[in-house]
Amino acid sequence: MKLHEIDHWVTSHAEQILQLTETLIRFPSVNRAPYGDEYEAQQFVIHTMRDMNLDVDVFLPTDVPELATHPALWQGRDYTNRPNVVGTWRGSNARDAKSLLFSSHIDVVAGSKGGRFENFVPTRDGDKLYGRGSNDMKGGLAATIFAVKCLQELGVRLNGNVIVESVVDEENGGANGTLASRLRGHKADACIVPEPTGMVVAPAHKGGRIWQVHLKGSPGIAFGSDNIVSPIYALAHLITALEHWETIRNRVTPPHPQFVENPGLPVLITKIQAGDFEPGAGDAVPETAMLEIWAEEYPGVSEAEHYARLIGYLEQVARENPSVAKCEMRVEPVTRFLPGSEISPEHEIVQTVRRAFSKAMQREPIVRGAPFACDVFVFNQIANVPCVILGPRGGNAHSYDEWVMMQDLLDLTKIFARTAVEWCGVME
Ligand SMILES: [Zn+2]
Repeated sequence: MKLHEIDHWVTSHAEQILQLTETLIRFPSVNRAPYGDEYEAQQFVIHTMRDMNLDVDVFLPTDVPELATHPALWQGRDYTNRPNVVGTWRGSNARDAKSLLFSSHIDVVAGSKGGRFENFVPTRDGDKLYGRGSNDMKGGLAATIFAVKCLQELGVRLNGNVIVESVVDEENGGANGTLASRLRGHKADACIVPEPTGMVVAPAHKGGRIWQVHLKGSPGIAFGSDNIVSPIYALAHLITALEHWETIRNRVTPPHPQFVENPGLPVLITKIQAGDFEPGAGDAVPETAMLEIWAEEYPGVSEAEHYARLIGYLEQVARENPSVAKCEMRVEPVTRFLPGSEISPEHEIVQTVRRAFSKAMQREPIVRGAPFACDVFVFNQIANVPCVILGPRGGNAHSYDEWVMMQDLLDLTKIFARTAVEWCGVME
């Protein structure tokens, strides 16, 4: 086959690729941990894959017996009506040829409202497509489905299997859906995850964890004899201390080799809570205050190291700062620890994606670590499937007016199809 036929096919099917993305955006497949609303979207994906004559495996994570006892399972989720969908396009010589897996998650965060556009009403504006999940990561899922469709319609017969999956429960620190697929037996010689990297080829990604710090003081309002301890002063000191800690650790931590061009370990305060705004509650110092923190780590940092660094620091502040010391402090995780993970930039799958990129785009890609945590550690560290992340440019993921660059979805379709041809081999 002539590889430039892929480019022509994608160009002439651009509208269908964008429309598939729009259809997926319209399904409000919100992850409401511990629950999720992925069902309707997954029914559509099943239908789409069956139309393409893929072997479609539909199963709940709880249908996989090994999941319940797996050490990486994040407990407490409800998988009622939350099927994973895995479509396999069988190669003609699957025994000898290499296989390729494209893995996307179908769930989206509820995110914030506001902005110019409705979250679940896809809207095109200039070169951008707006809508919840456009960037993270329904556009990427559409590109992987169309990469297979493209090769099928061009009459290509690959030697190795290509697997396209749409998993549930990745957001909110899940990754159980991704894990369940691996334990079900859906593995390959390499994987591509189209999380939005801004068209950067990423052989590594960062990790992190969401924590809540609960502070308890003594409530009330001063009448002279009360011993009031404000958890809000303690909260304020912790916020300042964390800002300081972020600065210091970024100064002293050398960047991971795959993050030299984009170093940084953000410590983000995502929520604070204190006080009572109920009508008639009166004015008083509240008993409790809460702080939610997202702290990132480079690949190679373990859960225990992360704990010792962040929680160790918070405990030190609690001992040394008088306002915090007066309160009871309790720290608990909101999500699992999502480890960062990596494969070598020299790995064969990275080189294959890189070549496909440069042929399709007529330029060399940027290759470096992705500055976010995701489920890719499940491939690299648990399933032993080397994984590359490559997804579109876009913005406002997890917020209002999420958008994706439409051209990138077309370019990704070309790159994914070319990668599959080179990786899996073509029957001559
Ligand atoms: Zn995502």
